[in-house]
Amino acid sequence: KISPADRMSGLPAQFFAALVGKAGAQAAKGRDVINLGQGNPDQPTPAHIVAALQEAAPNPLYHRYPPFKGFPFLKEAVAQRYKEDYDVVLDPEKEVAILFGGKTGLIEISQCLLNPGDICLVPDPGYPDYWSGVALAGGRMEYMPLTADNHFLPDYDMIHTTIADQAKLMFINYPNNPTGAVASPAFYSQTVEFAARHGIVVASDFAYGAIGFDGNQPVSFLQTPGAKEVGVEFYTLSKTYNMAGWRVGFALGNPEIISLINLIQDHYYCSLFGGIQAASAVALTGPQDCVSELRATYEKRRNALYNAMGKIGWEAPKPGGSFFCWLPVPIGHTSASFADLVLEQADVVVAPGIGFGTCGENYVRLGLLAPEERLEEAIERIGRLRLFG
Ligand code: PLP
Repeated sequence: KISPADRMSGLPAQFFAALVGKAGAQAAKGRDVINLGQGNPDQPTPAHIVAALQEAAPNPLYHRYPPFKGFPFLKEAVAQRYKEDYDVVLDPEKEVAILFGGKTGLIEISQCLLNPGDICLVPDPGYPDYWSGVALAGGRMEYMPLTADNHFLPDYDMIHTTIADQAKLMFINYPNNPTGAVASPAFYSQTVEFAARHGIVVASDFAYGAIGFDGNQPVSFLQTPGAKEVGVEFYTLSKTYNMAGWRVGFALGNPEIISLINLIQDHYYCSLFGGIQAASAVALTGPQDCVSELRATYEKRRNALYNAMGKIGWEAPKPGGSFFCWLPVPIGHTSASFADLVLEQADVVVAPGIGFGTCGENYVRLGLLAPEERLEEAIERIGRLRLFG
């Protein structure tokens, strides 16, 4: 009999793996399933980035082990993008770590900073991978509720001083998954002040940094004076360039934290395939029209979805960024009962809010991850169940 290590008992089944299984089972019955549950971009990587991989792949230099910590050209490319987009200056050698997707860094940072029993502040609702890292490190989570009344931002005044003083790490994530909320420079200044006062490291997850609506471009945490002293930002090519399958992400900012992340990575991995690094540099330094097109596509989809929702009496504020809509469930339902009902009776997959924390109990998350007509059809099908209004 296999006896797993104690740390495995704190690790729940990966939330999206279960969701994908349920959707697959419904599709296997021959049903026309519209899957808006998982945050998986549905559009292809722009052609010039794919062409750059094709060009780089035959290079024998890339067939050998890549350098530990990755190729300098990729670190320079991401530093250049941050300078152009956010006017943030990063030292490519000391303030940039290349990751296997943002996900690995978001888990590794807990392992780098938390001893068993140490407190980590996590948003509720929030991206479940934050919890996985804390669980693997044996840390303790304290939840920061994100409520509609506070624009889905944590209220630092509500965190007890003894908890704040004991906390070593905190996660923030704007544009936010799952609520679609965006953060202002004033919020980031408050965050730096709160973190500095209590000696907390900030992990800012900027996975949806490129996706802001209505002409408002999201700001980076690293634009805040003092940000680099207290934290790092996690950035990824997955959403900005439709490169989720390529697994390219970065940690950027505080050099001491970057060197800890690099150290742990040196033990897990050498680095990404060199051809992927070369094409990623092209994504970051080449033409950026694909990014404005991506943003426009999601904004059109959001507007189409909300128009359709209006027709069936389903009301919610529009997201300011990310590609998620955080929608209240009808009275009498829990997030899970509603998600099950729409899967079984409307063949629409939505993510139950409870999967993102207890504050998500009255919500479901819909991804803008299908063409407009499919999004409209999903809402029409849900409308036929006559649950709203
Ligand atoms: N952070 C958030 C909030 C996400 O939603 C995701 C992916 O869905 C990630 C990080 C991880 O992205 P990746 O590992 O593809 O870079």
